[in-house]
Amino acid sequence: MLNTEKIIEDTLRVVKKAKPKRILLQAPEGLKTKVKDIASAIEKQGTKCVIYADPTYGACDIPEKTAKMIECDLILHIGHTNMVGKTTPKTEYVAYFADTDILTPLKKHALKLKGIKTIALATTIQLVKKLPKIKEFLEKQGHKVIIGKSKNLTYAGQILGCDPTAATGENADAILYLGSGTFHPLGITRYTKTPIYVLDIEKNQLYDLKEERKLYEKKTILKTIKYNDSKTVGILVSTKKAQFNKNIFKIKKQIEFEGKKADILVMDNISPDKIIGMQFDILVNTACPRIEDDLVYDSPVVNWTTILHSK
Ligand code: SF4
Repeated sequence: MLNTEKIIEDTLRVVKKAKPKRILLQAPEGLKTKVKDIASAIEKQGTKCVIYADPTYGACDIPEKTAKMIECDLILHIGHTNMVGKTTPKTEYVAYFADTDILTPLKKHALKLKGIKTIALATTIQLVKKLPKIKEFLEKQGHKVIIGKSKNLTYAGQILGCDPTAATGENADAILYLGSGTFHPLGITRYTKTPIYVLDIEKNQLYDLKEERKLYEKKTILKTIKYNDSKTVGILVSTKKAQFNKNIFKIKKQIEFEGKKADILVMDNISPDKIIGMQFDILVNTACPRIEDDLVYDSPVVNWTTILHSK
């Protein structure tokens, strides 16, 4: 459950300290329903506030250009932590931590982890503060528990779809992902062969991801076959700061070296409606890795890193 009051309280504290004249307020899609309340609270405190209404998928997506254009001296990004470094104007982050009880479902299903010696924990920003208690419990059950840290992220155990290194950088017998859905745990499979277990707090289940993983890897192999057979390739490029791949011309050259015709398709937010009518045998994605899993494109999408690993 979203604790809006807490988000507003944290936001006002940040605003008070930063003392901006005008704020560009940005929140991910899951928090958009609260953004008007947050903006009102900021304005009540005496600071002008503009709501950024374009989609925000992650902390990779800081709207510096828009902020400059509408003369905001602060970007306020709700829901994530910094992953892009310094921005102009400055960006302040207000992370959101969920109050969900994940220890009780873990206690219920912990036997499924029996026999695993070393476990690396992974979760998203919303649940990172729960990890020390999870570690304590699993250690009492006889496991060795590691909470690693990505050098690009703020908290130990915190992962992103594009950065699972908090879990994969460790030498563990298994990774335990705590959260919901398969998006993040399947994302981890791109980077490691280590078995992955998922504590799905919405479904109240703990399971080994191996079946889903097998299917996912099969789909990835099929996409690489499709790439090898393709004659026309669209290269998806995002201009978002942390998604932009500066090697796009090299990538195009490499693809053309294989006898294919390749076009670079540059856009800020990558979405299928922008390329309707352009026909490609396959789309090669150089931006956010999760775009590869999106099934809404007319052509199959494969990450450039997937192609490189298949060579
Ligand atoms: S690149 Fe993708 S996975 Fe990484 S932060 Fe951005 S939206 Fe999330």
